[in-house]
Amino acid sequence: MSNKSTSSDARASAATETLQTPSPARKIYPIVKYGDAILEKPGAPVRKFDAELEQLVEDMFASMYAAQGVGLAAPQIGLSVRIAVVDVTAGKNPEAKIVLANPEIVHAEGEVREEEGCLSIPGFRGYVLRPQFVTIKAQNAKGEAFEIRGENLLARAFCHEIDHLNGILFLQHLGMLKRDLIKRKIKKLRKQGEW
Ligand SMILES: [Zn+2]
Repeated sequence: MSNKSTSSDARASAATETLQTPSPARKIYPIVKYGDAILEKPGAPVRKFDAELEQLVEDMFASMYAAQGVGLAAPQIGLSVRIAVVDVTAGKNPEAKIVLANPEIVHAEGEVREEEGCLSIPGFRGYVLRPQFVTIKAQNAKGEAFEIRGENLLARAFCHEIDHLNGILFLQHLGMLKRDLIKRKIKKLRKQGEW
């Protein structure tokens, strides 16, 4: 999911953190854009929890921060696998980094209609109705099962990323007029070689 505010604060604090705790160079993946079939098919379950997966997850966080997003799902970097990363603090709080492998919604409550965007559909936003609270059951990068409850933006990010793992984009939650308008604009951009 994309971040509404492009915060220079977030970039500054991320840079400070890099200076304080040197970490291995991360691979920054290019983000797959709308139109690529991988975004519209369900991912395969994660079965192998090894060092390679832990690397991938850290690279996904790095790629998400580089794109100034608050969530990133594996299909968005070209991998049709059920894993996503979420951090609604944009890297400000290392404890807010959440890895969702094979996530499922176990409980949802309330409704909030809020504007939403997607790193794979840059430049377009739309109002999407999502639960106000969700409880997710998932595994972390080590394969350990956990449950987590999210509220408002966090609940929205969980739902948005789980949708990605099921091949669903936020466009599908929009009214037909708005969805078709965005699709037409993207088509035009693609013709102009700008997508
Ligand atoms: Zn998205």
